Amino acid sequence: MKAILVREFGGLEVLKLEEIPTPKPAAGQVLVRIRAAGVNPYDTYMRAGTYAVKPLLPYTPGSDGAGVVEAIGDGVKKVKPGDRVYTAKTVTGAYAEYAIALEEQVHFLPDNVSFGQGAGVWVPYGTAYHALHHSAEAHASETVLVHGASGGVGTAAVQMARAMGLTVFGTAGTQKGIDLVKREGAHQVFDHGKTGYQEGILKVTGGRGVDIILEMLANVNLAHDTKLLASRGRVIVIGNRGEVTINARELMGRRASIRAFTLWGITPTEENEIHAGLIAGLENGTLRPVVGKELPLAEAARAHKEILEPGAAGKIVLVP
Ligand code: NAP
Repeated sequence: MKAILVREFGGLEVLKLEEIPTPKPAAGQVLVRIRAAGVNPYDTYMRAGTYAVKPLLPYTPGSDGAGVVEAIGDGVKKVKPGDRVYTAKTVTGAYAEYAIALEEQVHFLPDNVSFGQGAGVWVPYGTAYHALHHSAEAHASETVLVHGASGGVGTAAVQMARAMGLTVFGTAGTQKGIDLVKREGAHQVFDHGKTGYQEGILKVTGGRGVDIILEMLANVNLAHDTKLLASRGRVIVIGNRGEVTINARELMGRRASIRAFTLWGITPTEENEIHAGLIAGLENGTLRPVVGKELPLAEAARAHKEILEPGAAGKIVLVP
């Protein structure tokens, strides 16, 4: 089969398309014929060797795939050959024609969701769900600012928060991104490239501030976020690419908090709840993964370059 192989950590050039043997599922494992693989920012940090989780080399990137079950190992009961599934982590990597996943890493993909969309489920929607439900403990009638709403996690969070009954504000850095965030359900959208846009956000809350901020770039925004919070507000740090200094006094007066997590650290109970919630939302159409760009598997390097560039518009997926 064809697969992307990383033989050493490094730049885009280490992503090589190679011919390797198709793996066979052992007991408790599932072989998935991958029809689309989601590209996430952490894939690029992992490839560069700068991520907290370092895979053994050589490895094939990708936790998020969607496709059809090709074969199952002994003891697998959850799925059978022919079932449509999405993966939440894999054993052998989703940037390939076939991937092995543990039985518990495959989940049913509803018929109304395309494979491209299915490749955009786990990391983006799992993160949005954990951020809103578990971390922020969001409830209907609250206000949320999705700070970085045009990308994978942001579009997921906008759709989810809107369906939960929150008032949703989003930000994007291009007109295309702003239009997308509006289309996906945000009540108001702001340009995070424009000086003073934060004052515009405060203004639409009548000066009260927002209850929740889902932050995609904490090193740039966290200090200002603390000033945008309402009383008992909470910032949920999802993305961060450097250090930042904040004035804790901004939190004290508001009885506000900053919370943070990585999806790798959640409990199995939380993960089960997330999949149940996501599958229900996919089935009823409130969750609609946005595929911004489909690229052939051979263009994994281009996908890794573009995912870190400004101008996000949904997910980038690779098609084997
Ligand atoms: P993505 O698809 O590449 O989207 C990036 C988003 O950040 C876009 O909406 C982009 O907007 C926005 N952005 C750019 N500059 C910004 C600024 N100054 N202020 C606010 N937002 C800005 O990435 P993603 O998959 O949504 O992930 C977002 C971040 O969360 C990444 O850093 C990723 O590593 C992290 N993440 C963390 C977890 C976790 O477990 N904690 C899970 C998933 C993702 P424009 O392009 O329109 O400017």
